[in-house]
Amino acid sequence: MLLTGSRSWLHKRRWQVLAVLAFGGPLVAIALVQYRWLEELGSRSRMAESQQNRVAVMSAAALLEDRVSGARLETLPPIPHEDVFELNLDGLGRQFDEALARFPYVQHYFLWVSPAPYEETLFYLPEEKGFRAVRKAADRWPSEVWQMDTDSPRWSEFTIPGDSPMQVVIHRMTDPDDPSRTALVGFCVNLNRFAKDFLPSFHDEEVAPLLGQIPGREDVAFAVFDESGKNVFATKPDFDAQLADSSAEIQLSFALRSEGSDRNIEAPVWRLAVGEKHDGIQEMLKQGALGNLAIVGAGIIVLGLGTMLIARGSNREANLSDLKSRFISGISHELKTPLSMLRLYSEMLELGRVPNEMERKLFYRKLRQQAETMSDMLEEILDFSRLEAEQQPISKKPCPPQEILEEAVEMLDASGPERDLVTVSTDGRLPDLLCNRPSLVRAVYSLLDNAFKYSDPDQPVEVRASRRNGMVAVAVTDGGRGISSEDLPHIFERFYRGETGKAVKGTGLGLSIVDTVVKAHEGKIEVDSQPGHGSSFTILLPVPPQAG
Ligand code: ADP
Repeated sequence: MLLTGSRSWLHKRRWQVLAVLAFGGPLVAIALVQYRWLEELGSRSRMAESQQNRVAVMSAAALLEDRVSGARLETLPPIPHEDVFELNLDGLGRQFDEALARFPYVQHYFLWVSPAPYEETLFYLPEEKGFRAVRKAADRWPSEVWQMDTDSPRWSEFTIPGDSPMQVVIHRMTDPDDPSRTALVGFCVNLNRFAKDFLPSFHDEEVAPLLGQIPGREDVAFAVFDESGKNVFATKPDFDAQLADSSAEIQLSFALRSEGSDRNIEAPVWRLAVGEKHDGIQEMLKQGALGNLAIVGAGIIVLGLGTMLIARGSNREANLSDLKSRFISGISHELKTPLSMLRLYSEMLELGRVPNEMERKLFYRKLRQQAETMSDMLEEILDFSRLEAEQQPISKKPCPPQEILEEAVEMLDASGPERDLVTVSTDGRLPDLLCNRPSLVRAVYSLLDNAFKYSDPDQPVEVRASRRNGMVAVAVTDGGRGISSEDLPHIFERFYRGETGKAVKGTGLGLSIVDTVVKAHEGKIEVDSQPGHGSSFTILLPVPPQAG
């Protein structure tokens, strides 16, 4: 059942389906190929980017190593031995001042010369432009620093951990005139200050130009992580270790590049990282691809909607032509009966086969009734084609609602029971309506005619004019068959005949004509119906301003 349904659905809409497939298929295929191609391009560019990042980060690491060994290389060995062993503090102070200006990451230079006790290590305090023995400062140095045997390394470096970790670089000297005399000269670097004060200028001077060499990569970020993985410097605030494309580890030693093996180095391992925090090339490409997909998607949606509209339009056309052909066959059938009756009755009368006066009268009445039915139907069809053809507004004149009702009732068959079954009432004195009298009378008559057509014989019908919300309401109420909820939304459509219409003569045009006439009067029509209990059709017409 379902299969047959979907098959017939497919059959009916095969052209629309084919149109969607013919246009949509290649569009989808192009979009997919484009997406794949962009993805491929994206991943290639990603690889190229990573390569560039790797080179950049390695270069940055080498540069940083160079810069951190600068203080040791350029300040400690050049210090004249005699200035140290003769404690030429003025001369040393000048040299340390110069060195501090060139290597701001150094916090203090210091000096110790035997045979003084090690507590008397002299620290150079640049703000005081002098040396001071800072007690306890050297307490935290490892004991081997003070072991003065000949095997002691000439260079040593160690970390003093804590909230403010320090790197201490020590250079051991021996007095050339008295080999028993030893001196220690060195400096300490506060790693927090190093990260805070030195790394930004290192980035600006060395790393930024390095990353700037990569065109279109302004978003590339640089960061440094300490041994615990804490981000100690980043060009983008929330640079996360995971976002790093490439990284390089360096031993953050200020004395690492010491010559020879006589050195004792302890330094933390820091990590330099380069990565794209935000939209990288791939992201941009992806967005481009998504944009393209969105355009293609929108195209498909527009195409689909267009096809749907065409399908609906053609469906409507098909339905209408179906209704029209049903109407023509219906109307031919409807006309056939009265015509054959007319022929039969007139032949019988002509041949004198109805001798009885009473019967003859009955025959004449039947002849007239059949002729009236036919003329009613023809009138409806003519009304309809007139309305269809007429585009210009109808002419209107003031007329009392009471007269419209009366004229409509008068159109009912005078010799039939209908007129006696109609109750006409008006609610007080009603204002004149501005209307096209003949068409409005015919509209009310159509409603009356329907009321009788769709009720049992002898059922009374009420037509009543009243005021409602500043409008004149003309209501035709019957106690007939009523209208089913399936038919109700369609009864004003052209050629539509409901379930109740099947057994009764009609064209399916009456209500659509009423609707058109009412709209031409800027009014509206309402229907209230209970299947099995009757219907009430109400025409609501505006009251002209001067009449209100
Ligand atoms: P027709 O009466 O020629 O079929 P109409 O346009 O006048 O065409 O009415 C459309 C349909 O609405 C009818 O076929 C009938 O099913 C339904 N209908 C109209 N008026 C009534 C009524 N008073 N009671 C029940 N059904 C009605």
